[in-house]
Amino acid sequence: MNKKNVLYVKDLNKNYSKNSSKSVHAIKNLNLEVNEGEIFGLLGPNGSGKSTLFNIICGILSPNYGDVIINGINVNKIPVFERVQKYGISLIPQTGGTFSGLSCIENLKAISEIVIEKKNERNYKIEEMISKFQLEPHAHTKCCELSGGSKKKVAIAMALMSSPTILLMDEPFAFLDILTVRDLQETIVNLQTEDSSRCIIISDHSARELLGISDRALVLANKKIVAQGSPREVIDSPSARIYFGDSFKIN
Ligand code: ADP
Ligand code: MG
Repeated sequence: MNKKNVLYVKDLNKNYSKNSSKSVHAIKNLNLEVNEGEIFGLLGPNGSGKSTLFNIICGILSPNYGDVIINGINVNKIPVFERVQKYGISLIPQTGGTFSGLSCIENLKAISEIVIEKKNERNYKIEEMISKFQLEPHAHTKCCELSGGSKKKVAIAMALMSSPTILLMDEPFAFLDILTVRDLQETIVNLQTEDSSRCIIISDHSARELLGISDRALVLANKKIVAQGSPREVIDSPSARIYFGDSFKIN
């Protein structure tokens, strides 16, 4: 059975104006479809437009041309908070994602007050997140004092407070050691298993961590999609191999 399309990015273009004479074309005529329940890998070298795309999908940036369509509805003119509340989008940014001077609990409380209306539901959700990510020992530790892996867990927990159906994770594996990466990969797969309607889109510049857990993936380079399909198809694609190297394997 075909899965329902949740996100459709159509003919997307984004220019950054540096000054009156020069502009940077970050995204050119990009088309992308993600279905419910999928883990979708967005691969591309630094500067290929991954963060720009995520910022456009969640409404932080506007495209110069093209559309972001969620469940058949064009959200181009919908502001960030409404995309979070009504359209189920949540972003875990490449860096930060937490208020570093606040404790783990304070971070979760701050977000809960924005995205959850009823106080008892807020407290319930905070407890659920603390337990899900085993954050009990760090509950009252300031985020700036946490390890990279724990900080990432708090950022994910914060993004999940609004119970998103489209979770965007911008380079979540960056700067993490291999054991923490494995732990995070397991967390991501669990997030997919526990909610069959949720799709998770993850960016990375390295295929190694990403393709092992992706259902489908796309490789972006030089403003073009150079490969897309199943992880196997992407790995076997000669144009994508330029970015991964010939020795790359997935299990
Ligand atoms: P990635 O996340 O894949 O590394 P980005 O989306 O950050 O790529 O950047 C894509 C391109 O847009 C790069 O050439 C980058 O220098 C440029 N860019 C990103 N943000 C800005 C900005 N705020 N102003 C000008 N250029 C930008
Ligand atoms: Mg980026």
